[in-house]
Amino acid sequence: MLPRGWKKLLLNLQNKEQVLCPNCCSSKVEYIYVGDLKKRVGFQLVWCNSCKQGIRLSRVLIPNDEDMLSFDDEDEFSKRVPEFKVLN
Ligand SMILES: [Zn+2]
Repeated sequence: MLPRGWKKLLLNLQNKEQVLCPNCCSSKVEYIYVGDLKKRVGFQLVWCNSCKQGIRLSRVLIPNDEDMLSFDDEDEFSKRVPEFKVLN
């Protein structure tokens, strides 16, 4: 189960709409896809850079038009993704 507000946020992200953090209402929400570059299957992280809370979605299909990182690209991962509290 996703915490309150995050399901709607995901829908808005999919529709490329502006999103606000369900926790602190900041617009500094970011996401990343990480997975197998060929199969385009992996996980998605969505987090707020303001309050450092977010969610993790496992076993997602990564859309072809979305940027993604490889599972083993740890350097880039640590550059792009801050420490945040996973709510789900
Ligand atoms: Zn926030």
